[in-house]
Amino acid sequence: MTLIDKKNQKAVRVSYKPGRHKAIAESAFMRKRGQGIAPTEIPAEEAWEMADIVWDAPEDEVLTIGSVEDYLWGDDFGEIMGLVPCDNCGELVSKVYLRVVGKSHMCIPCSGYER
Ligand SMILES: [Zn+2]
Repeated sequence: MTLIDKKNQKAVRVSYKPGRHKAIAESAFMRKRGQGIAPTEIPAEEAWEMADIVWDAPEDEVLTIGSVEDYLWGDDFGEIMGLVPCDNCGELVSKVYLRVVGKSHMCIPCSGYER
């Protein structure tokens, strides 16, 4: 996602690194959720055990944080729903921000396009 400071016209890109997805998917909490068990029916210790997989992760393993850039806020924002993974990096991208490169659909940074 891009976090935008409208007042100061600055923005920073932040994306989630999928480093601990497997451990999260295999946690007792997520296995029970997969069986259709409501979160309120799962012991709190098991919920915290899953949360701690990310909580205890080194900061650079959780998020990629870009540099703060100048950003002129406009009203020309497209539809933000309809996320699909970039064919190159796998990051989820809003459809309006996908770019076609050969037979692939890529996020703007992977595509090489400027915008
Ligand atoms: Zn990409």
